[in-house]
Amino acid sequence: MTVTTRPPVLIPDNVAFMSAAVTWVRHWNEHLFSFAIERPASVRFRSGEFVMIGLPGDTKPLMRAYSIASPAYADELEFLSIKVADGPLTSRLQQIQTGDQVYLGKKPTGTLVCDALLPGSRLFLLATGTGLAPFLSLLRDPDVYARFDQIVLVHSVRRVSDLAYYEELESQLAEDPLIADEAKAQFVYVPTVTQEQFRNHKRIGALIDDGTVFAAPLKGPAKLDPATDRVMLCGSNAMIRDFAELLEATGFTEGSNANPGDFVIERAFVG
Ligand SMILES: Cc1cc2nc3c(=O)[nH]c(=O)nc-3n(C[C@H](O)[C@H](O)[C@H](O)COP(=O)(O)OP(=O)(O)OC[C@H]3O[C@@H](n4cnc5c(N)ncnc54)[C@H](O)[C@@H]3O)c2cc1C
Repeated sequence: MTVTTRPPVLIPDNVAFMSAAVTWVRHWNEHLFSFAIERPASVRFRSGEFVMIGLPGDTKPLMRAYSIASPAYADELEFLSIKVADGPLTSRLQQIQTGDQVYLGKKPTGTLVCDALLPGSRLFLLATGTGLAPFLSLLRDPDVYARFDQIVLVHSVRRVSDLAYYEELESQLAEDPLIADEAKAQFVYVPTVTQEQFRNHKRIGALIDDGTVFAAPLKGPAKLDPATDRVMLCGSNAMIRDFAELLEATGFTEGSNANPGDFVIERAFVG
Protein backbone atom coordinates (compact mmCIF):
# COMPACT_ATOMS: atom_id res chain seq x y z
CA MET A 1 0.00 0.00 0.00
CA THR A 2 1.26 3.49 -0.74
CA VAL A 3 1.54 6.29 1.81
CA THR A 4 -0.36 9.42 0.86
CA THR A 5 1.96 12.42 0.60
CA ARG A 6 -0.28 15.21 -0.74
CA PRO A 7 -3.90 16.39 -0.38
CA PRO A 8 -6.47 14.25 -2.26
CA VAL A 9 -7.19 15.28 -5.84
CA LEU A 10 -10.94 15.86 -6.25
CA ILE A 11 -12.56 16.00 -9.70
CA PRO A 12 -15.41 18.13 -11.10
CA ASP A 13 -18.95 16.68 -11.17
CA ASN A 14 -19.93 15.20 -14.53
CA VAL A 15 -23.43 14.34 -15.78
CA ALA A 16 -22.37 11.16 -17.58
CA PHE A 17 -20.12 9.64 -14.91
CA MET A 18 -20.05 9.20 -11.16
CA SER A 19 -17.10 10.19 -8.99
CA ALA A 20 -15.68 7.73 -6.46
CA ALA A 21 -12.85 8.01 -3.95
CA VAL A 22 -9.81 5.72 -4.05
CA THR A 23 -9.61 3.58 -0.88
CA TRP A 24 -6.19 1.96 -1.44
CA VAL A 25 -3.43 1.55 -4.03
CA ARG A 26 -0.94 -1.34 -4.34
CA HIS A 27 1.94 -1.23 -6.81
CA TRP A 28 3.16 -4.66 -7.99
CA ASN A 29 6.06 -3.47 -10.16
CA GLU A 30 6.80 -0.72 -12.69
CA HIS A 31 4.17 -2.15 -15.07
CA LEU A 32 1.26 -3.05 -12.83
CA PHE A 33 -0.79 -1.71 -9.92
CA SER A 34 -4.08 -2.42 -8.20
CA PHE A 35 -6.43 0.04 -6.62
CA ALA A 36 -9.91 0.11 -5.14
CA ILE A 37 -12.62 2.76 -5.03
CA GLU A 38 -15.70 3.19 -2.90
CA ARG A 39 -18.69 1.44 -4.42
CA PRO A 40 -21.57 3.82 -5.06
CA ALA A 41 -24.82 2.23 -3.85
CA SER A 42 -26.31 2.42 -7.35
CA VAL A 43 -23.58 0.28 -8.97
CA ARG A 44 -24.79 -3.25 -9.65
CA PHE A 45 -22.69 -5.78 -11.53
CA ARG A 46 -22.15 -9.48 -12.07
CA SER A 47 -18.76 -10.95 -11.16
CA GLY A 48 -16.56 -10.82 -14.29
CA GLU A 49 -17.98 -7.61 -15.79
CA PHE A 50 -16.10 -4.43 -16.74
CA VAL A 51 -16.87 -0.74 -16.27
CA MET A 52 -15.47 2.56 -17.55
CA ILE A 53 -12.90 4.30 -15.30
CA GLY A 54 -11.28 7.65 -15.96
CA LEU A 55 -9.90 11.04 -15.01
CA PRO A 56 -10.68 14.56 -16.22
CA GLY A 57 -9.43 15.21 -19.77
CA ASP A 58 -8.85 18.43 -21.68
CA THR A 59 -12.49 18.86 -22.69
CA LYS A 60 -14.25 15.74 -21.35
CA PRO A 61 -13.40 12.82 -19.06
CA LEU A 62 -10.77 10.43 -20.43
CA MET A 63 -12.33 7.01 -19.90
CA ARG A 64 -11.07 3.44 -20.41
CA ALA A 65 -12.65 0.01 -19.92
CA TYR A 66 -11.59 -1.80 -16.75
CA SER A 67 -12.54 -5.26 -15.54
CA ILE A 68 -13.78 -5.23 -11.96
CA ALA A 69 -11.49 -7.50 -9.93
CA SER A 70 -13.67 -7.63 -6.81
CA PRO A 71 -16.72 -9.92 -6.62
CA ALA A 72 -20.31 -8.77 -7.03
CA TYR A 73 -21.02 -8.72 -3.29
CA ALA A 74 -17.97 -6.59 -2.28
CA ASP A 75 -18.22 -3.11 -0.73
CA GLU A 76 -15.34 -1.81 -2.88
CA LEU A 77 -14.67 -1.90 -6.61
CA GLU A 78 -11.14 -3.23 -7.14
CA PHE A 79 -9.09 -2.95 -10.34
CA LEU A 80 -5.80 -4.31 -11.68
CA SER A 81 -4.16 -1.85 -14.06
CA ILE A 82 -1.33 -1.74 -16.52
CA LYS A 83 1.02 1.28 -16.43
CA VAL A 84 1.61 2.43 -20.00
CA ALA A 85 4.36 5.08 -19.85
CA ASP A 86 2.82 7.22 -22.59
CA GLY A 87 -0.73 5.90 -22.19
CA PRO A 88 -3.22 8.77 -22.12
CA LEU A 89 -4.99 7.45 -19.01
CA THR A 90 -2.55 5.17 -17.20
CA SER A 91 0.41 7.58 -17.34
CA ARG A 92 -1.74 9.65 -14.93
CA LEU A 93 -3.84 6.95 -13.25
CA GLN A 94 -0.69 5.27 -11.89
CA GLN A 95 -0.15 8.42 -9.73
CA ILE A 96 -3.44 8.09 -7.83
CA GLN A 97 -3.37 7.95 -4.06
CA THR A 98 -5.88 7.11 -1.36
CA GLY A 99 -8.59 9.80 -1.19
CA ASP A 100 -8.20 10.92 -4.83
CA GLN A 101 -11.33 10.70 -6.95
CA VAL A 102 -11.80 8.93 -10.30
CA TYR A 103 -14.71 8.88 -12.72
CA LEU A 104 -16.76 5.71 -12.86
CA GLY A 105 -19.17 4.61 -15.58
CA LYS A 106 -22.76 3.94 -14.57
CA LYS A 107 -23.32 0.60 -16.31
CA PRO A 108 -20.96 -2.35 -15.87
CA THR A 109 -21.29 -4.94 -18.65
CA GLY A 110 -19.45 -7.87 -20.20
CA THR A 111 -19.41 -11.48 -21.31
CA LEU A 112 -17.07 -13.12 -18.77
CA VAL A 113 -20.02 -14.03 -16.58
CA CYS A 114 -21.34 -17.39 -15.46
CA ASP A 115 -24.69 -16.59 -17.08
CA ALA A 116 -23.05 -16.73 -20.54
CA LEU A 117 -21.86 -20.31 -19.97
CA LEU A 118 -23.84 -23.55 -20.05
CA PRO A 119 -23.56 -25.74 -16.95
CA GLY A 120 -20.36 -27.82 -16.79
CA SER A 121 -18.09 -29.50 -14.29
CA ARG A 122 -14.65 -27.91 -14.92
CA LEU A 123 -14.21 -24.17 -15.50
CA PHE A 124 -10.92 -23.07 -17.11
CA LEU A 125 -10.00 -19.39 -16.70
CA LEU A 126 -7.19 -18.58 -19.16
CA ALA A 127 -5.54 -15.17 -18.75
CA THR A 128 -2.54 -13.25 -20.01
CA GLY A 129 -1.34 -10.15 -18.14
CA THR A 130 -4.10 -7.93 -16.78
CA GLY A 131 -6.60 -10.43 -18.22
CA LEU A 132 -6.39 -11.84 -14.69
CA ALA A 133 -8.67 -9.07 -13.36
CA PRO A 134 -12.14 -10.44 -14.18
CA PHE A 135 -11.09 -13.88 -12.97
CA LEU A 136 -10.14 -12.45 -9.56
CA SER A 137 -13.74 -11.31 -9.35
CA LEU A 138 -15.12 -14.72 -10.28
CA LEU A 139 -12.70 -16.64 -8.05
CA ARG A 140 -13.86 -14.65 -5.03
CA ASP A 141 -17.56 -15.27 -5.73
CA PRO A 142 -19.22 -18.24 -3.96
CA ASP A 143 -21.62 -18.66 -6.88
CA VAL A 144 -18.80 -19.89 -9.13
CA TYR A 145 -17.94 -22.69 -6.69
CA ALA A 146 -21.62 -23.66 -6.56
CA ARG A 147 -21.83 -23.89 -10.35
CA PHE A 148 -18.60 -25.79 -11.11
CA ASP A 149 -16.83 -28.74 -9.42
CA GLN A 150 -13.35 -27.46 -10.21
CA ILE A 151 -12.04 -24.07 -11.31
CA VAL A 152 -8.60 -23.79 -12.93
CA LEU A 153 -6.85 -20.44 -13.38
CA VAL A 154 -3.95 -20.39 -15.86
CA HIS A 155 -2.20 -17.00 -15.70
CA SER A 156 0.57 -16.31 -18.19
CA VAL A 157 2.93 -13.35 -17.74
CA ARG A 158 6.38 -12.39 -18.99
CA ARG A 159 8.19 -11.84 -15.67
CA VAL A 160 7.82 -13.27 -12.19
CA SER A 161 7.00 -9.82 -10.77
CA ASP A 162 4.04 -9.63 -13.20
CA LEU A 163 2.33 -12.42 -11.23
CA ALA A 164 0.03 -10.04 -9.37
CA TYR A 165 -1.90 -11.65 -6.49
CA TYR A 166 0.54 -14.58 -6.58
CA GLU A 167 0.57 -15.14 -2.82
CA GLU A 168 -3.19 -14.92 -2.48
CA LEU A 169 -3.74 -17.30 -5.37
CA GLU A 170 -0.95 -19.69 -4.37
CA SER A 171 -2.57 -20.00 -0.91
CA GLN A 172 -5.86 -20.85 -2.69
CA LEU A 173 -7.44 -17.66 -1.32
CA ALA A 174 -7.07 -18.98 2.22
CA GLU A 175 -7.47 -15.48 3.71
CA ASP A 176 -10.88 -14.96 2.12
CA PRO A 177 -13.36 -16.23 4.71
CA LEU A 178 -16.31 -16.35 2.33
CA ILE A 179 -14.80 -18.79 -0.17
CA ALA A 180 -11.66 -20.21 1.54
CA ASP A 181 -13.15 -23.68 2.10
CA GLU A 182 -14.56 -23.94 -1.41
CA ALA A 183 -11.35 -22.64 -3.00
CA LYS A 184 -9.22 -25.09 -1.04
CA ALA A 185 -11.27 -27.99 -2.37
CA GLN A 186 -12.05 -26.73 -5.88
CA PHE A 187 -9.54 -24.10 -7.07
CA VAL A 188 -6.35 -24.96 -8.98
CA TYR A 189 -3.80 -22.19 -9.76
CA VAL A 190 -1.38 -22.62 -12.67
CA PRO A 191 0.89 -19.56 -13.05
CA THR A 192 3.38 -19.46 -15.90
CA VAL A 193 6.22 -17.03 -16.69
CA THR A 194 7.41 -16.98 -20.28
CA GLN A 195 10.54 -14.80 -20.13
CA GLU A 196 12.14 -15.68 -16.78
CA GLN A 197 12.95 -18.83 -14.81
CA PHE A 198 9.86 -20.22 -13.08
CA ARG A 199 8.35 -23.62 -12.36
CA ASN A 200 6.10 -23.23 -15.42
CA HIS A 201 7.61 -21.27 -18.28
CA LYS A 202 5.59 -22.30 -21.34
CA ARG A 203 2.72 -20.42 -22.92
CA ILE A 204 -0.84 -21.47 -22.03
CA GLY A 205 -1.33 -23.51 -25.22
CA ALA A 206 1.80 -25.54 -24.53
CA LEU A 207 0.72 -26.18 -20.92
CA ILE A 208 -2.56 -27.54 -22.23
CA ASP A 209 -0.85 -29.66 -24.89
CA ASP A 210 1.70 -31.18 -22.50
CA GLY A 211 -0.93 -31.92 -19.82
CA THR A 212 0.43 -29.56 -17.11
CA VAL A 213 -2.93 -27.83 -16.79
CA PHE A 214 -4.70 -31.16 -16.18
CA ALA A 215 -2.30 -32.54 -13.56
CA ALA A 216 -3.63 -33.56 -10.11
CA PRO A 217 -5.49 -32.27 -8.15
CA LEU A 218 -7.55 -31.69 -11.29
CA LYS A 219 -9.89 -34.58 -12.07
CA GLY A 220 -11.13 -35.69 -15.48
CA PRO A 221 -9.55 -36.07 -18.91
CA ALA A 222 -6.16 -34.51 -19.80
CA LYS A 223 -7.75 -32.49 -22.59
CA LEU A 224 -10.44 -29.87 -23.02
CA ASP A 225 -13.78 -31.57 -23.59
CA PRO A 226 -16.92 -29.59 -24.55
CA ALA A 227 -19.08 -32.21 -22.83
CA THR A 228 -17.82 -31.25 -19.38
CA ASP A 229 -15.53 -28.23 -19.64
CA ARG A 230 -16.25 -24.51 -19.89
CA VAL A 231 -13.61 -21.90 -20.75
CA MET A 232 -13.24 -18.16 -20.23
CA LEU A 233 -10.49 -16.27 -22.10
CA CYS A 234 -9.17 -12.83 -21.22
CA GLY A 235 -5.96 -11.25 -22.45
CA SER A 236 -4.17 -10.19 -25.59
CA ASN A 237 -5.76 -10.33 -29.01
CA ALA A 238 -3.30 -13.01 -30.12
CA MET A 239 -4.08 -15.31 -27.21
CA ILE A 240 -7.83 -14.93 -27.65
CA ARG A 241 -7.70 -15.46 -31.41
CA ASP A 242 -5.57 -18.59 -31.13
CA PHE A 243 -7.69 -20.14 -28.36
CA ALA A 244 -11.05 -19.26 -29.84
CA GLU A 245 -9.99 -21.02 -33.06
CA LEU A 246 -8.66 -24.03 -31.16
CA LEU A 247 -11.79 -24.32 -29.03
CA GLU A 248 -14.13 -24.06 -32.00
CA ALA A 249 -12.11 -26.72 -33.82
CA THR A 250 -12.56 -28.96 -30.75
CA GLY A 251 -16.36 -28.56 -30.76
CA PHE A 252 -16.80 -25.71 -28.26
CA THR A 253 -19.38 -23.03 -29.10
CA GLU A 254 -18.93 -19.40 -28.08
CA GLY A 255 -21.46 -18.12 -25.56
CA SER A 256 -23.00 -14.71 -24.94
CA ASN A 257 -25.42 -13.24 -22.43
CA ALA A 258 -28.28 -13.94 -24.86
CA ASN A 259 -27.06 -17.41 -25.90
CA PRO A 260 -24.99 -19.24 -23.27
CA GLY A 261 -22.29 -21.53 -24.71
CA ASP A 262 -19.16 -23.50 -23.85
CA PHE A 263 -16.66 -20.62 -23.87
CA VAL A 264 -16.61 -16.83 -23.61
CA ILE A 265 -13.98 -14.22 -24.46
CA GLU A 266 -13.03 -10.65 -23.60
CA ARG A 267 -10.05 -8.68 -24.82
CA ALA A 268 -8.12 -7.31 -21.84
CA PHE A 269 -7.00 -4.48 -24.07
CA VAL A 270 -7.19 -3.49 -27.69
CA GLY A 271 -3.94 -3.69 -29.64
C1 LIG B 1 -13.24 -4.82 -22.09
C2 LIG B 1 -11.90 -4.26 -21.66
C3 LIG B 1 -11.47 -4.47 -20.36
C4 LIG B 1 -10.23 -3.95 -19.95
N1 LIG B 1 -9.81 -4.21 -18.67
C5 LIG B 1 -8.59 -3.75 -18.28
C6 LIG B 1 -8.11 -4.04 -16.97
O1 LIG B 1 -8.77 -4.67 -16.15
N2 LIG B 1 -6.87 -3.57 -16.64
C7 LIG B 1 -6.10 -2.85 -17.52
O2 LIG B 1 -4.99 -2.47 -17.17
N3 LIG B 1 -6.55 -2.57 -18.75
C8 LIG B 1 -7.78 -2.98 -19.14
N4 LIG B 1 -8.23 -2.68 -20.39
C9 LIG B 1 -7.42 -1.76 -21.20
C10 LIG B 1 -7.76 -0.31 -20.78
O3 LIG B 1 -9.05 0.01 -21.26
C11 LIG B 1 -6.74 0.71 -21.31
O4 LIG B 1 -6.33 0.40 -22.60
C12 LIG B 1 -5.53 0.81 -20.41
O5 LIG B 1 -5.94 1.29 -19.15
C13 LIG B 1 -4.46 1.76 -20.95
O6 LIG B 1 -5.03 3.04 -21.10
P1 LIG B 1 -4.14 4.24 -21.64
O7 LIG B 1 -5.06 5.36 -21.99
O8 LIG B 1 -3.04 4.52 -20.68
O9 LIG B 1 -3.44 3.67 -22.96
P2 LIG B 1 -4.17 3.18 -24.31
O10 LIG B 1 -4.09 4.28 -25.31
O11 LIG B 1 -5.53 2.62 -24.02
O12 LIG B 1 -3.22 2.01 -24.74
C14 LIG B 1 -1.86 2.30 -25.09
C15 LIG B 1 -1.15 1.01 -25.49
O13 LIG B 1 -1.05 0.13 -24.35
C16 LIG B 1 -1.51 -1.18 -24.67
N5 LIG B 1 -2.30 -1.65 -23.52
C17 LIG B 1 -3.44 -1.08 -23.07
N6 LIG B 1 -3.93 -1.78 -22.03
C18 LIG B 1 -3.09 -2.82 -21.82
C19 LIG B 1 -3.08 -3.89 -20.89
N7 LIG B 1 -4.06 -4.02 -19.97
N8 LIG B 1 -2.08 -4.76 -20.95
C20 LIG B 1 -1.10 -4.64 -21.88
N9 LIG B 1 -1.04 -3.65 -22.79
C21 LIG B 1 -2.05 -2.75 -22.77
C22 LIG B 1 -2.43 -1.00 -25.88
O14 LIG B 1 -2.40 -2.13 -26.68
C23 LIG B 1 -1.86 0.21 -26.58
O15 LIG B 1 -0.89 -0.19 -27.52
C24 LIG B 1 -9.45 -3.19 -20.84
C25 LIG B 1 -9.89 -2.97 -22.15
C26 LIG B 1 -11.09 -3.51 -22.57
C27 LIG B 1 -11.54 -3.26 -23.99
